[in-house]
Amino acid sequence: MSFKYTDTLPPPVRIAHELHRHGLKPTKQRLRIAEILMNEPTHMTADQILTVLRRDGDHVSKATVYNTLKVLAQRGLVRQINIDPERAVYDSTRIPHHHFYDLETGELYDINPSEIEFSRFPALPEGMEADGVELVIKLRKKRPAPTDSGPMALSSMKFDPIDRGPAE
Ligand SMILES: [Zn+2]
Repeated sequence: MSFKYTDTLPPPVRIAHELHRHGLKPTKQRLRIAEILMNEPTHMTADQILTVLRRDGDHVSKATVYNTLKVLAQRGLVRQINIDPERAVYDSTRIPHHHFYDLETGELYDINPSEIEFSRFPALPEGMEADGVELVIKLRKKRPAPTDSGPMALSSMKFDPIDRGPAE
């Protein structure tokens, strides 16, 4: 059977039910935020969600969005990913999976778990068990390969002769 991220997402009509199932009252704000996040596999920051809400005419405070997301994550409806300490990203795909992370844009892309294989793990510390393994592959734009004519090539550097004064 093939792995589909969408299999882990509740259909929109079930979002209220999902909130209930996770012990949360389906308030208007929770429903709206859960809808934005959970309709399709996505990764969004609190600010991005706030932008969508305000665009749709919702007068909601930043604090409400942050608090609602925190609660949704605590109850396991979305996953909170903290790669960048400055801003958490909320992931609607609830099953464990891996990510590509674009260092420039901060964007996350899912990696299907079946595409990664680990060959060796360290021994776990005494008394501990593994709860999960999540890999983040950080991406940056390819840098051009250095060439002889490149600006940093030593052969092309010009050195000013040091003026030692008139020779004696
Ligand atoms: Zn993801």
